[in-house]
Amino acid sequence: MKLDLLAIAAHPDDVELTCGGTLIKMARRGYKTGILDLTAGEMGTRGTPETRSKEAAKATKLLGVAWRGTLGVPDSDVQPSRQYKLELAGVIRELRPKTVILPYWQARHPDHYHASTLGYEGCFLAGLKQLPMEGEPHRPFKILYSTSYADVRPTFVVDITKEFEQRRKAILAFGSQFRPAKRAAKSKVFLAIDRLEDEMNQLARHFGQMIGVKYGEPFLTKELMQIEDVVAMPVRSI
Ligand SMILES: [Zn+2]
Repeated sequence: MKLDLLAIAAHPDDVELTCGGTLIKMARRGYKTGILDLTAGEMGTRGTPETRSKEAAKATKLLGVAWRGTLGVPDSDVQPSRQYKLELAGVIRELRPKTVILPYWQARHPDHYHASTLGYEGCFLAGLKQLPMEGEPHRPFKILYSTSYADVRPTFVVDITKEFEQRRKAILAFGSQFRPAKRAAKSKVFLAIDRLEDEMNQLARHFGQMIGVKYGEPFLTKELMQIEDVVAMPVRSI
């Protein structure tokens, strides 16, 4: 399968929370999109692995992605080891994405910043001819860093106003993380995803406002952006 866009993240639900709107928008444009979850999210505070995989399948459908897979890295122990880099390079060679979305390289959660390094180095290795592995060498053309979890000024923002409702549905598909069993309702366990969903919605609103639309998702590129037509540029200055 050949993908146009592949989003790589540490845990199932990271992609929905940080760049789900962009994936929906690109799928609606006719691009072939995909998601690679590095871990199965087995350290999540709620829900069994079976529930979580059902939830991820539901979210996947809502995002309109053509492919979703798990690399099988242990949750809470994401490391950019040689073994995982080679495994990831194998997936890149198979899917041949033109553009890859990675988490920003600085984060509070070690899984998130390690996912960024593992993703970048896996993409790099995939293009090495001499690599002792199957498949035609392939290196993605573009790497975008999703900065939704990071306190950093993005390079650009994608308008997701029309995709926002669908993105919400995809996030809420992870129901076991939102609706604890009665017995657990009074537990003081921190419900990360509840807070995250709320925060991500506020962030989408904030970054939308920054470009003069209702909702947006922020990204950063290491390289500069090239512009052909300075008269047709969007986003009002004054
Ligand atoms: Zn995560």
